[in-house]
Amino acid sequence: MITATGKSILKGIAIGKVRFLAKKQAEIKETAADPAAELKRYEDAKALATEQLQGLYDKAVVEAGEEHAAIFEIHMMMLDDDDYNDSITELINSEGKTAEFAVKTTGEQFAETFASMDDEYMKARAADVRDISGRMVNILTGAETGPAGSDEPFIIVAEDLAPSETVQLDKSKLLGFVTRLGSTNSHTAILARNMNIPALIGTEISEEWDGKTAIIDGYNSCIYIEPEEELLRTLDEKRVRDLEQRAMLQQLKGQPNVTLDGREINVYANIGNVSDVGMVLDNDAGGIGLFRSEFIYLNSKTFPTEDEQFAIYKKVAEMMGGKKVIIRTLDIGADKQADYFNLPKEENPALGYRAIRICLMQHEIFKAQIRAILRAAAYGKVSIMFPMIISVSEVKEAKAILEECRKELLAEGKEVGEVEIGIMIETPAAVMVADELAEEVEFFSIGTNDLTQYTLAIDRQNPKLDHFYDSHHPAVLRLIDMTVQAGHRHNCWVGICGELGADTTLTETFLRMGLDELSVNPGGILGLRKVIRELDLGGAQEPETEAPAEEKPAAPAEAPAEENPAAPVESPEPEPEKQAKKGRFSLFGKNKNK
Ligand code: PEP
Ligand code: MG
Repeated sequence: MITATGKSILKGIAIGKVRFLAKKQAEIKETAADPAAELKRYEDAKALATEQLQGLYDKAVVEAGEEHAAIFEIHMMMLDDDDYNDSITELINSEGKTAEFAVKTTGEQFAETFASMDDEYMKARAADVRDISGRMVNILTGAETGPAGSDEPFIIVAEDLAPSETVQLDKSKLLGFVTRLGSTNSHTAILARNMNIPALIGTEISEEWDGKTAIIDGYNSCIYIEPEEELLRTLDEKRVRDLEQRAMLQQLKGQPNVTLDGREINVYANIGNVSDVGMVLDNDAGGIGLFRSEFIYLNSKTFPTEDEQFAIYKKVAEMMGGKKVIIRTLDIGADKQADYFNLPKEENPALGYRAIRICLMQHEIFKAQIRAILRAAAYGKVSIMFPMIISVSEVKEAKAILEECRKELLAEGKEVGEVEIGIMIETPAAVMVADELAEEVEFFSIGTNDLTQYTLAIDRQNPKLDHFYDSHHPAVLRLIDMTVQAGHRHNCWVGICGELGADTTLTETFLRMGLDELSVNPGGILGLRKVIRELDLGGAQEPETEAPAEEKPAAPAEAPAEENPAAPVESPEPEPEKQAKKGRFSLFGKNKNK
């Protein structure tokens, strides 16, 4: 048995086979001495690829229906295409190329031919050729190791996982992951929390573990490879107990998020993909508080079109059945990179060209997304949220672009819906001008991941700094408190969508600050609900410092609670009573009410 330690992202136990993700693409040799042997390698790889595709097809039929599964049928047909096969065998037989070189070259040529066609359908086939050729090259070079394409659930072990890689993983089979790099605040860690699966970072990993049975023990921050019988039994029992506890939380479904003394708060969910909505509904979230739309871009080989985005947003809005869906506009850049954006290499990407900065410089990209969101809003209760805001002028500009898009869509006779407009508060600058910002929008959602990074001047991606990355730092908590008070002074509801929102050691603090919403990973909803329902804030306290709520002209007085920014959402109570119930919280060691 081998034991390796790391930093645990989520307490829990995962037991399964390791799938080692080779980071570097294997080198592709160009020539081979024995064409017959290469042909045999090619035929074997093709048989394996067909088997994998058949497995994916069968699974997709069950999970998403025949229409969605059809793509794998197309891939199988392409693998068998005469022209494709002739080109590959010709390169192997006549030019003495290796099987992988022949596949790669043919794939690139065919993809280029498809891409240059006028017909949109044929154009789109370029990505499919690349896909099947990539699959074949991976098999031939051994770049794809472990039980790839098998039906067995697996534990991923990798150097690091970029967000663009995590979106490709078959999450239904992912039991947990272990990486050597990554920090507890990286997007990989967020993925683990979102999926509610154990994960370790900062672990000395080995390729030798591939295919072996392992246990991730998230309680003790370690992974055991080929564990002893006794340990396997004990930890499996613990895993089953965890599942039982989770099952008990299920009883809280349908219950309100209300404290013993009657303070209610919205608990929403964070998602990155349509496929996460099932988990959101399963866990009975009140809405989606953060849809990280950049994952659509990361999952795409080129800019997703307005129509592609519209289909996704519409689907999410419809699936949520009238519950709020807050779509954050593109937050690409920093660690979230997609090649086709051609973003410049920067010394300090976290302080660089990212998120709203890109959108305000590249209107075509921004407008395609805004138009898609406005159109989807006709099918549900959709809000739009702009990330990485530092100043009022950015918000004004973003709103002007939104209005331009609305007018264009109406002129084109397209259906559009009303959207609530909000911003993320994730820079200290935004907190300092929160009063002015609140005049512009209907809600704030505090991104504590970045707010901590920018306040403490600590790169959230740097594992060496994990120890210093302290979201409980008084500076961060005071900024959150300042944001809530500024928002409420201007009838702007305030939530948290960063990871801190799920930290139940702070739930009472957040309720006392007066936060209206906490948006957390879907797996954290019911646990948070349990904590809220067991809290007693000691009844009503009227804050001295809070200015009376002003009426915001944009909010119709008769609007239902969730529509009206003056009223913290989802409460049937009239506003003054609700406000009176908000206890106050002091970060300065004494209660401000005294
Ligand atoms: C945040 O910064 O807290 C946030 C929610 O956004 P992201 O983690 O996607 O940067
Ligand atoms: Mg952020």
